[in-house]
Amino acid sequence: MQAPTPHDPLIIFGKGKTGEIARSIDWSKHPLGPVENWDTNLKTTLSLAMSSLFPMFIAWGEERYFFYNDAYAPILGNKHPSAFGQKFQTIWSEIWEDLLPLVNSVKNGEAVYLEDLKLIMNRKGRDEEAYFTFSYSPVRNKAGAIDGLFCSAIETTGRVKAESELEDILENMSDAFFTIDANWIVSRVNLQFEKIINMKRSDVIAKSLKDLYFSTPEQLESVYVKTYSKVMKDRKPASFIDYYAPFDIWTAVSVYPKPDGGLAVFFREISEERRAAQELKDAVAARDEFISIASHELKTPLTSLKIITQMQARLSSLEKAEAYSKDRIDRYVEKSDKLVSRLDRLIEDMLDISRIRTGKLTMQKHNVDLVGITKDVIERFQELFIVSSGERIKFHGPDEVIAEVDVMRIEQVIQNLLQNAIKYGDGELVEVFIKDLTDKVTLTVKDHGMGIDPAKQSIIFERFERGINANHISGLGLGLYISREIITSLGGKISVASEPGKGSAFTFEIPKQTPH
Ligand code: ADP
Repeated sequence: MQAPTPHDPLIIFGKGKTGEIARSIDWSKHPLGPVENWDTNLKTTLSLAMSSLFPMFIAWGEERYFFYNDAYAPILGNKHPSAFGQKFQTIWSEIWEDLLPLVNSVKNGEAVYLEDLKLIMNRKGRDEEAYFTFSYSPVRNKAGAIDGLFCSAIETTGRVKAESELEDILENMSDAFFTIDANWIVSRVNLQFEKIINMKRSDVIAKSLKDLYFSTPEQLESVYVKTYSKVMKDRKPASFIDYYAPFDIWTAVSVYPKPDGGLAVFFREISEERRAAQELKDAVAARDEFISIASHELKTPLTSLKIITQMQARLSSLEKAEAYSKDRIDRYVEKSDKLVSRLDRLIEDMLDISRIRTGKLTMQKHNVDLVGITKDVIERFQELFIVSSGERIKFHGPDEVIAEVDVMRIEQVIQNLLQNAIKYGDGELVEVFIKDLTDKVTLTVKDHGMGIDPAKQSIIFERFERGINANHISGLGLGLYISREIITSLGGKISVASEPGKGSAFTFEIPKQTPH
């Protein structure tokens, strides 16, 4: 076997696939000429580079003829294998502008090193973003002049893309995100963080999280600071929900340890959810309270009825004719009738509530005289109600106003208002006013009783709401709610003007004709 010579292409180009291609080229037809005439330093550098498993290339001579190894071939994409021995500038024409300053620096004897340099390369028939970490260094010829460029490079596109993808996800996710180091210095925040905290990242990064958001002694004792400290110490993730008073927000927070001893923290504002949950809780409490009031309200007339029935039973057992005095029976009948009516009214009100809730409170509208209806209702109340001065319910208004209403429902409203005026009116005069306003009509029920606390005036129209705590005046807190629903269904509105201690005036206003 013949010993290899320094000119042996097998030594210069190596045994790899690219080396094989290099060896198949007829170099005598190449501007560099036959291999045996090449500069010794080129040959030495080539033999080093071609056998390396790390991606490398050499660009040689004035024209920078390009030699690369197997590891570099994939970086070239479809430029391989034709690129071998071609001009550097021709092969990488699309990035030449970016590379030229680096190439020139090497020509002047300055090596360069760059990390994750972004280059738009065309190596798969289309432009694509690629990233490289690499160094260029000068190669001298045997005369000592710089005649070549040696590059070792690694493509970092995969890592850079994965990182930027992650960055993108963190930046755009709906959770707020931040990181701190072991000294609580903020190193990074995302867009949602800026939004919730309402601060720009430039105002928080490199600052201490404690200085920024947990500066008071109470805040330093908060669940936030305690959990962050614990996760830093234990190196185990944790999550919690807490209220951050300075921003008036509820947050759900997840905390993860970072390898540097710091933390990665994700949080979400859950104020809305908390509010909704609280409202639900309040609604359930209101319903429970209503049930207990309703039971009580239903129980009272029932108890009275039971007593009357028992008394009647006892009387009949006496078997004495005088026990059946007509007078007595009449009184019992009248009393029972009133109690039954009251029970009926209470149950009707409760049914109305569910009708309203299910949208089944329908109106049967007819043109009727509102004054006549009002006077009828007043008449029914007169018997129940005689004020100290001997006066009764007073009516002020025209003789007739025709309006398109549901008779039963409008009666129900007037009845509710009158009943309240009597109930809460301290036995003082009650007045009813009707005003004819061409296309509208208003009705006011005015009393001179206890009046309503201004703070309560807006809520008394709500379901189950009672303006008083007084247990001595019975009621379900439904009358005004139902009245408002009826009036709104008729296209009108209802309001109250009241001064505590002086009395209240409830007014509703409805259109005389509903638009068709
Ligand atoms: P209820 O009378 O059964 O409690 P309402 O819905 O009719 O229910 O009234 C709601 C609340 O409004 C009452 O509990 C009472 O506090 C207040 N209110 C209604 N009318 C009057 C009035 N004329 N004067 C004072 N307070 C009133």
